[in-house]
Amino acid sequence: MASAKATTLPRGQCAQCWYHAYASREAHAGLGPREDCPQCVEHMANGHPDHMIVL
Ligand SMILES: [Zn+2]
Ligand SMILES: [Zn+2]
Repeated sequence: MASAKATTLPRGQCAQCWYHAYASREAHAGLGPREDCPQCVEHMANGHPDHMIVL
C-alpha cells in the first residue's frame, strides 16, 4: 500500500470518495475510531459535487 498513486481514478467516480475508500487509513487519519468522516458523510447526505467527478 506504499504507492497509492499507481491506481488511476475510474471514470464517473467521485475523486474524494474514491480516495477515501482507496486510501481510507490516510484519508481518515485524523479521525477517532468511532468518528465519522465529515467529508464522506457530506457526500452520502448531499451527493457528490460535479467538480469532484472524473469524466
Ligand atoms: Zn472519508
Ligand atoms: Zn463523493
